[in-house]
Amino acid sequence: MQKENIIEFLLTSGFNALTYEQKNQIKLNRPTPHLLLTCQDGKYIRTFQKNWYNKLPWLTGCDKRNKVFCFTCVIFGGEKEWSVNGLSSIKNFLRKSEKHAISQKHLTNQEKCHLLGKVRIEHAISEGRRLAAVKHNEQVGINRRLIARMIHVVYFLGKQELAFRGHRENNESLNKGNHYYSRAASTIKKHFLDLKNAVLHVTEEPGWDPISVCTASGLYDKLNDANFVYFLILFSKVFLYIDHVFNFLQSKSLSNIKSCISEIQNLKKNLSDLRNDTNVNNCCDEAILLNNNLEYEDKKRNKLCKITYEILDSLIVQINIRFEDFPKLEFVEIVNEKMFKSYYSEFPESKFIKLLQQYPNTFDADRLCNELAVIYADDRKHLPPHELLDFIVNIGDLHQDIYPQVTKLCQLVLTIPSTTASSERSMSTLKRIKTFLRNTMTNERLSSLSSLAIEKNLLGDMAKDPT
Ligand SMILES: [Zn+2]
Repeated sequence: MQKENIIEFLLTSGFNALTYEQKNQIKLNRPTPHLLLTCQDGKYIRTFQKNWYNKLPWLTGCDKRNKVFCFTCVIFGGEKEWSVNGLSSIKNFLRKSEKHAISQKHLTNQEKCHLLGKVRIEHAISEGRRLAAVKHNEQVGINRRLIARMIHVVYFLGKQELAFRGHRENNESLNKGNHYYSRAASTIKKHFLDLKNAVLHVTEEPGWDPISVCTASGLYDKLNDANFVYFLILFSKVFLYIDHVFNFLQSKSLSNIKSCISEIQNLKKNLSDLRNDTNVNNCCDEAILLNNNLEYEDKKRNKLCKITYEILDSLIVQINIRFEDFPKLEFVEIVNEKMFKSYYSEFPESKFIKLLQQYPNTFDADRLCNELAVIYADDRKHLPPHELLDFIVNIGDLHQDIYPQVTKLCQLVLTIPSTTASSERSMSTLKRIKTFLRNTMTNERLSSLSSLAIEKNLLGDMAKDPT
């Protein structure tokens, strides 16, 4: 087929009638004839410029009809003006063509055109996806470690105790350990009376080995220690909230930033609500309910109050430091592939605006909006950012022409410095906490806190061999 007849042929017979080879051949033969188009613009006469074909790699013309068309839209169907009727007027031509170039239908057609003839593209994509999956898993590993570190900071109280039992850190994972303390606190609280009776039994009944008797009497002292029981109550309250957030952050993907933020805000509010005299008095009262031998005179209550405030303040400060960057990351949701289906019916306008505010002069907003809309509309493109990026790259060498803005956005999301910065910072946060602990721990507090862990051995033994 003669190159100059291609557009006429496509307009009359259509693209689908062609064989696979013919289609591929047509794709590579965009006609770029010179056209005799003019228009009056004020006192000037504008004429058709042949270099528009270089500027707009999709532009084509039909000299028989003396009109310009969009090559890809003629092939695949699109805006009537550009695919069927053609433009015979070049009035405002550049503005019109710019508008067409970022239209959703045109973007979709550009991609179809690039994919045409790449028979092995599906293989390439599936291989790309396999590699992406490997990369993804690595990333998941990194993310998990990152979250685990964040959680460690939230598990501040557990850490206080960890700092004094470093030699045991190798025996069990940190998370497991932390979970243990939170459960240990509530377990001891729940079975306080049973425990007390059991311990008493060990110390008073004959036939026990000296080590058990010794440990049991140590524990008995603890259960009658006003500070210990007070912290037991306080810790079980604090852990109740922290456990909840811990489980939440572990179960949800980090990309669901909004719910993470509200969970963390709730946690802070709940912890602040504990920071008052009423709560301290309630804890004392609950402690007395567990063990009516305990006494909390005003001086003791004041002292416990101070320590309680200090613990809660440190917790809240650490949570603030740890999660300060979270709200800024809300725009990441734009490329949360799990949401694409709902974005398809309702574009995430507010997140989109946040992105533009956070990164002004970075994106071509209209174009990005249309590129995203095309991606949201296509199930095959519902991929996490790095896979999406791979997918776009695999479309062909000219991928930049089709999704330059989404490419930029994916690259941005995948390289957000807060992810690397926070892992570094969490290291130093850990150091700070440990230093803080070493410097501020009094012996009294140390014994109350660490006894939780000491008791757990005994608890374990008793579970195996209840008397
Ligand atoms: Zn087009």
